[in-house]
Amino acid sequence: AEELMIQSEKLSIAGQLAAAIAHEIRNPLTSIKGFLKLLQYSNEKDLYYDIVHNEINRIELILTELLSLAKPQKSKMIQCDIRKTLEHVTSLLEAEANMNSIEIIKKFDLEVPVILCDENQIKQVFINFIKNAMEAMSNGGSLKIEVLLDDKIFIRFTDTGSGIPEEILSKIGQPFYTTKENGTGLGFMISKNIIENHNGTVKIISEVNKGTSVEVMLPLIQVQ
Ligand code: ADP
Ligand code: MG
Repeated sequence: AEELMIQSEKLSIAGQLAAAIAHEIRNPLTSIKGFLKLLQYSNEKDLYYDIVHNEINRIELILTELLSLAKPQKSKMIQCDIRKTLEHVTSLLEAEANMNSIEIIKKFDLEVPVILCDENQIKQVFINFIKNAMEAMSNGGSLKIEVLLDDKIFIRFTDTGSGIPEEILSKIGQPFYTTKENGTGLGFMISKNIIENHNGTVKIISEVNKGTSVEVMLPLIQVQ
């Protein structure tokens, strides 16, 4: 009976997701249809062409992010040093941080054991959380990245950005929930999903106008 319930719960989540996806894609499609009609007779072809192009790009972005969820490429579990993974990810994002007057401060515990994880997926998670932090600091700020060893590994991303109002906090991670003009509202959901597949957890602590802390916990022993 329990299995049945889990099954039906899964179905309803899939149903919700399907409805949300259909809605998200129908919006740009409706707009493409409308502007294509206008394009035929208008002498403002450049403007309409750009709009259509942007809407197509939006659909493409949504589908790319969704595919990473729908088709979790066969997980490739390897031994990895989370600090090295973070070094790699931050080196990719350093230039962007500099450009936005964001200082990245790293504080890693000295002795952190390697853990078994899908490094590519974990990289994607770190990139998502760092990007969210940077996007919350449109006027610059600092991003502290900590790795703490307890009986588990804690990875904490603390920004000095806009913070998150309490009424919004519970919506984060719902598919397509975004407060950004060009957001997809998928990053957090996908990241949380990946961490939970690693038997970990994600927590957010935030204060408006002070900043946000996203804490990832990964267990030391993993059986999968
Ligand atoms: P997206 O970044 O495309 O909007 P996400 O799923 O990554 O989608 O995030 C959902 C929402 O959560 C964001 O639109 C933003 O409102 C909020 N959020 C996530 N991380 C932070 C953060 N570090 N600071 C402030 N708001 C955040
Ligand atoms: Mg995001």
